[in-house]
Amino acid sequence: MILLAGAYRFPYAVSALKSGHGRLELRKFIFVTGGVLSGLGKGVIAASIGLLFKLRGYRVTLQKIDPYLNIDAGTMNPFEHGEVFVTCDGKETDLDIGRYERFLDEELSAVNYITTGQVYWNVIRQERAGAFLGKTVQVIPHITDEIKRLIQLPLTQNKAEIGVIEVGGTVGDIEVLPFLEALRQLKDELPREDTFFVHLTLLPHLASTDEIKTKPTQHSVKELRAIGIQPDMIVARCDRSLADSIKDKIALFCDVPQQNVIEDLDLPSIYDVPLTMKDQGLDRRIAEELGLPQQEAEVDRWQALTKRLQEPSQRVRIGIVGKYVQLRDSYMSINEAFLHAGIALDVGVDLEWISAEAIFHEGPKAQLSGLDGLLIPGGFGDRGIEGKVRAVGYVRKKGIPFFGICLGLQCAVIEYAREHLSLPKANSSEFDPATPHPVIDLLAGQTTVTEKGGTMRLGAYEAVLREDSKSYSCYGVQRIYERHRHRYEFNPRYRQQFENGGARIAATSPDDQLVEIIEVVEHPWFVGVQFHPEFKSHFLSPHPLFCGFIKACLKRRSSSPSASS
Ligand code: GLN
Repeated sequence: MILLAGAYRFPYAVSALKSGHGRLELRKFIFVTGGVLSGLGKGVIAASIGLLFKLRGYRVTLQKIDPYLNIDAGTMNPFEHGEVFVTCDGKETDLDIGRYERFLDEELSAVNYITTGQVYWNVIRQERAGAFLGKTVQVIPHITDEIKRLIQLPLTQNKAEIGVIEVGGTVGDIEVLPFLEALRQLKDELPREDTFFVHLTLLPHLASTDEIKTKPTQHSVKELRAIGIQPDMIVARCDRSLADSIKDKIALFCDVPQQNVIEDLDLPSIYDVPLTMKDQGLDRRIAEELGLPQQEAEVDRWQALTKRLQEPSQRVRIGIVGKYVQLRDSYMSINEAFLHAGIALDVGVDLEWISAEAIFHEGPKAQLSGLDGLLIPGGFGDRGIEGKVRAVGYVRKKGIPFFGICLGLQCAVIEYAREHLSLPKANSSEFDPATPHPVIDLLAGQTTVTEKGGTMRLGAYEAVLREDSKSYSCYGVQRIYERHRHRYEFNPRYRQQFENGGARIAATSPDDQLVEIIEVVEHPWFVGVQFHPEFKSHFLSPHPLFCGFIKACLKRRSSSPSASS
């Protein structure tokens, strides 16, 4: 069964949205902070809380605060920070925004992501414009006022009733202080039952004494209290279930009711987290304290899908040739998109991460034989390009399903031009500015761009599909909106040559100027897309191209069982 995008919708509590004066009646803030260490999964907890309230029938929005001086995540290294996620309106954000979209089954936008850099940028621009003439501009109140404004913006813009705001970093970090101060002020300005603070910590287990230690949690709560914030709930990451005595101790030392101590165990899948949170009463407790009526979150559909993760009836092996093969977070949305499509089709997708450099040095056969399909994801810079081009050649000639995303499409175009269209020196001008055949070239409008931040072709654009294409048979509609993040594109000067030589221009921009999808006609499934479909795949609504690709891989596997052994 394939779940259609957006088909799964819940009745919102629309009646509670506006009073006679058009003012939002219901407006609650749930803040998620983190203590002890980073990397405990605050994003998953925030997304789970958001989901549970959405499944209770509320309009929910999620926001991430990143305490970096970068204006956005676009200039950060995916090797250190994980993938750069792009919103439909073209903001380059932290990967947690992707997580929120995948849980909520909704598109978020630029206002759902704040950085320190952006806050200061806004305030400094106002100062230059003379907005504070005669005043000394300070962290309190000017920076904190701007933070409070930005925190409330997504609720207003999305007409949301509940905003879940995740504060990146760890309590105690210098960078986080202005944000926590702003939250403290907001808490004091709003009615008591309109804000709720969830604090995520770690409970380490000491093997020598077989004890779970609560001291780091106590200390991080103390840090939070020193700023004037008393958490309402402690979510404790732990590797074993918590005895009541441990919960009692945390409750006593951290001054929260015992029922508000929630355990956060390691689980097989992040999609199990909202269910275990619900089982422990997390959303019930928050609802009680926010004065919201009690109703059950309708998790049946979500639960049914998570069950499918456990025992899929079939499996496929798909290779991914990338630059950052050791760090999966760099391709998080692709991983997730395979998972969503696999669940919808009841297929377990085994991903094999293959280094482009290994293919270049050892040849594609050693690395790629036995795969049911190959995906080449997006990327920048020339490292590993020749290995990727060789990988494309191998699967194209062998009839192995191929899915190229952004840079993956560009490598496929280079390979096709060199090997099939007799243009042996064809290249992208990104990798060889002197190539006689720039089959991939700078987008018009990029030639004069010198600044790096936020200057690519970013965000969702419309594309029109050809009805006789493989892609159309996946989407089932002619007009699509997909998200972009690139400076280079297929060079339209070579369009005729490609079409005459067996390639299909399967989608273009509505004005027919930009090529958005290229397919190889005589191939079981060879699809290259200039956009990033993985950003639009959600747990409840997988992406049609990922579903189509997996189906082609299944077909390949069943028609050539020896290839998979
Ligand atoms: N580096 C290529 C470009 O800028 C591809 C970008 C990508 O894969 N996101 O066009």
